[in-house]
Amino acid sequence: MKRQFTRRELLKVSAQGAAAAGLARVVGGPGLSGMKAAEASSKEDPGVWIDFLVRDFVLHSPQNSLQNAAKERAWADPLVGFSRGDDPLYLAYKDHVGPFHWTPLEIFQLTFPELSVTPDQLAVISWILPQTEATKADHQKETAYPSERWVRSRIFGEEFNNELRRHVAARLLKEDFPAIAPALSPLWKMKESERYGFASTWSERHAAYAAGLGTFGLCDGLITPKGKAMRCGSVVARIQVPATPRPYEDHHAYCLFFSRGTCGKCMSRCPAGALTKAGHDKLACEKYMRQVTVDYASSHFGLKGYGCGLCQTNVPCESKIPA
Ligand code: SF4
Ligand code: SF4
Repeated sequence: MKRQFTRRELLKVSAQGAAAAGLARVVGGPGLSGMKAAEASSKEDPGVWIDFLVRDFVLHSPQNSLQNAAKERAWADPLVGFSRGDDPLYLAYKDHVGPFHWTPLEIFQLTFPELSVTPDQLAVISWILPQTEATKADHQKETAYPSERWVRSRIFGEEFNNELRRHVAARLLKEDFPAIAPALSPLWKMKESERYGFASTWSERHAAYAAGLGTFGLCDGLITPKGKAMRCGSVVARIQVPATPRPYEDHHAYCLFFSRGTCGKCMSRCPAGALTKAGHDKLACEKYMRQVTVDYASSHFGLKGYGCGLCQTNVPCESKIPA
């Protein structure tokens, strides 16, 4: 049987876990404005504290940047939600996607093998990073290739998303709540799912769905209260936070195509023919992104990376729940 750890041992194990998750450089970093007040409130309401951690970082970190001349923000104000480690949805995901898909317990135990934990002691913290109005406005005009702001948000915005993952996990670790950002685990991998083709060991969108943050559209994107033009992230932690209510029962509830039999606008926005009434052809989408948009981003913007997301803008679900 696993033993409980003393505070000193926990900090040591947490540091090891942080190193394994690539978090060490953030632990003990400079404080953020208002952190003391937020930390004080953590003792009473961890959900409020974590919500603050995410919002404050998005609002104040200089890394939330498109890294263009105007130093515009990559992301607008975020949404934050929580799901429980023992939510049956996580076992259902494993059942659907494949045995390689982690539950919160599995990635936590892989990261902290010496810690004793049960699924009900874990929480999954999820966030949505909405595209800015300027990025969406640029992208709406495009019909075949990505706008420069969109490519910048895909490259530099995702680098920031990784910093946010590290930041949230590190702050939790510092307060004795062992935490891991699954997408940053060295064990994270792409695998082949029998039912869904290529899939990963952890899905940020599915964690966000479990946390009440949105439902899936025809194009597989998550339609959130701030729309589908966004990226998301998550951290699994041993902490007690009440789950955010899920205001839906159907995983397609917010999509007009599934809920009302209308729309389908994302199909006509796709330059790769990857979207049909049958859904999202992941291979055609990936091929377009890797083969076409990589060259375009390099030749037109001098940027090394890719991005498409035309199905996320100039559609009814771009910035809100349309259904
Ligand atoms: S554009 Fe229309 S059909 Fe496509 S995901 Fe959005 S609501 Fe659904
Ligand atoms: S990301 Fe681009 S290629 Fe992929 S489905 Fe959306 S519009 Fe089509």
